[in-house]
Amino acid sequence: MRKVITAADVERMLCAGESFATIPADAIITPSARDLMRSRKLPARPFFAKASAVAKAMADKPDGRPANSAASAAPHSCDCSQSIDLKNPAAIQKFFTSPAVEAVKAQMCDIGRRMWEKDYVDGNGGNITVRVAENLVLCTPTLISKGFMKPCDMCLIDLDGNQMAGTKKRTSEALTHLGIMKRQPKARACIHAHPVHATAFAVASVIPPSCLIPEAEVFLGEIGMAEYQTPGTPANGKAVGEVGVNHQVVLMQNHGVITWGDNVEDAHWKMENIDAYCRTVWIASQLGSPLHSFGADKLKELIAIRQKLGMSDQRLGTKDCKLCDPGDFRAAPVSQPPKT
Ligand SMILES: [Zn+2]
Repeated sequence: MRKVITAADVERMLCAGESFATIPADAIITPSARDLMRSRKLPARPFFAKASAVAKAMADKPDGRPANSAASAAPHSCDCSQSIDLKNPAAIQKFFTSPAVEAVKAQMCDIGRRMWEKDYVDGNGGNITVRVAENLVLCTPTLISKGFMKPCDMCLIDLDGNQMAGTKKRTSEALTHLGIMKRQPKARACIHAHPVHATAFAVASVIPPSCLIPEAEVFLGEIGMAEYQTPGTPANGKAVGEVGVNHQVVLMQNHGVITWGDNVEDAHWKMENIDAYCRTVWIASQLGSPLHSFGADKLKELIAIRQKLGMSDQRLGTKDCKLCDPGDFRAAPVSQPPKT
């Protein structure tokens, strides 16, 4: 009887680094397996001799992508409005290995590598989630460095955190990401990391002062602070979700940072923005001169720019005297602009 190769078989072989040369030449390749091979740039047929070389090349790449892949060239957004039948394992598996979802997996690996290279994650820390359907989310696995993930390491979960597909175990922090996604439909991707400068502010429980750098006001908006809860617990999901619903950047007390955006690239930009902002504020505060605030009127202009870019901002209803309040930041006094 001819052997049947499904997408799950291809997925398993890629994960295990198995050679495709072991597949019998007369094997039946299912359409979804063929799609998966194409999405990974594996030649469809005849592919056996060549495929082993391609598979080896992919295994040699930290993120499992062929060297010429443009997987991360453009931010990817799945059609999150479609709903998958969660009682149909075949439908879930087919969706999990579809070209659109494979593209998101590759992009998550790319973002993970960039976070690792920037020292935003240490050990097996950090995690990434991307909403790929109305009722399904891709997430990174537990106990793996974000710098060396492969697409076949990704997990598929429902909105309660139940694992629906994937050979690795999902990150326990998925509940924290879902705490935001379930409250805020615009949050289609979340990233959690431990970037040193922003995490230092989270450990000190200090929100960096506003009205210092215009780009931070436009792209970060108002920075949130979530109270400490044990990582991976429903309580942490609730604490972070309640703050994250109105803040795209949340400092997690005694822990790290979580950001969300329209896609995983957008969420990663905010992670870069918050750590650069915290680092700049920290260095500026050591220079012995009061930090200069550009003032509430200028901040309102920046909030208007933010709104034109489609990002809501709850600060509009805030009194002027509170808009540029340095809060608990006491490393150096913040000077106010001269009265005109
Ligand atoms: Zn963490």
